[in-house]
Amino acid sequence: MKNLEIGKVVCVGRNYADHAKELGNEVPSQPILFMKPASAVVSINEAIQLPDFGGEVHFEAELCVQVGKDLVNASMDEVKTAINAVTLGLDLTLRDLQTKLKSKGHPWERSKAFAGSCVLADWVSPNGFGDLTQVHYQLFMNDECKQDGDTALMLFPIYELLVDISKAFGLQAGDVVMTGTPKGVGKITAGDKLTLVLDEHRWATEVC
Ligand code: ZN
Repeated sequence: MKNLEIGKVVCVGRNYADHAKELGNEVPSQPILFMKPASAVVSINEAIQLPDFGGEVHFEAELCVQVGKDLVNASMDEVKTAINAVTLGLDLTLRDLQTKLKSKGHPWERSKAFAGSCVLADWVSPNGFGDLTQVHYQLFMNDECKQDGDTALMLFPIYELLVDISKAFGLQAGDVVMTGTPKGVGKITAGDKLTLVLDEHRWATEVC
């Protein structure tokens, strides 16, 4: 595992059918992609600062991967050997603002790409996870399990996603992909304690 600087974060919308359903969205026929800039990234080891834009802020727990080499129009074989590191992240979302922007047909970056909107846990080596298509992870809020994710349930599995993103945007060494959230997203408020669990790894943080 190399220590690489993050260039951009590519995110995937509606990659789990049960989450698409809970927000009343259709299941997509190709990956829904959007980006967060490097300035959106913060560590889970800092308390989460609630943004001051009004409306509900939602957590979305997601499996995240960092690529270790440049990928443009990559093949399945190339992407399988390109993952440098794995972790969990929170795709923080200003849900009320996102709903408003979507209804007007506007880009939704204001609700998804603000500073602090990409909370990343510590990177771990991908070696312990086999092929990454059967990884289990959880998010607890105030000790209650809110999200229970299994990458086997992704509509677009992780390697297909990387191939698609390498065609749509191209990826550079250090870039991160947030692979979508399972059902159970919800609002955070000051004082909430969030815990992310990935195998034997456990990261806790607090909202302030
Ligand atoms: Zn998300």
